[in-house]
Amino acid sequence: MLESLEGQCQCGKVHYRVQGVCATVFVCHCLECQRQSASAFGMALWVNDAKVLLLSGELNQWLRATPSGQQMLCRFCHTCGTRLFHQIKGQNQLSIKPGTLNDSRQLKPVAHIWTSSKQDWVKIPENTLQYPENPPTFDALFMAWEAQHSAPDRSLILA
Ligand SMILES: [Zn+2]
Ligand SMILES: [Zn+2]
Repeated sequence: MLESLEGQCQCGKVHYRVQGVCATVFVCHCLECQRQSASAFGMALWVNDAKVLLLSGELNQWLRATPSGQQMLCRFCHTCGTRLFHQIKGQNQLSIKPGTLNDSRQLKPVAHIWTSSKQDWVKIPENTLQYPENPPTFDALFMAWEAQHSAPDRSLILA
């Protein structure tokens, strides 16, 4: 289902709209995500066939090499630095930092990855997929998301 997601950075200069198909939402406990979020974990909302429309403001970007040798494009507000999007170069799948969405209440992560570096005090809810590092494939995460949103009244419509 094509969805329209809107969000903004912390200072409010950047407003964005993303159209695409939500594929999954998960929490990552890797040390990169802890440092990037300046917190205990990072969250990711993956959107397929994503079209990003910048409604206002200006983005900066930097490229990070991933452990698997790919290049990840990281985009953030030029003024306040809020991280908004990640994208592996050459892939059309966009990762939104979901805390920047105008309405993120519907977003319940279906999985926690890199639990091997999770902070001890973080308790993972039952019935949630868990992986010590990256999952071998993300198929289980896509299926769990689909199951969570298959009922029409629980579909994710944020705009
Ligand atoms: Zn900003
Ligand atoms: Zn991570």
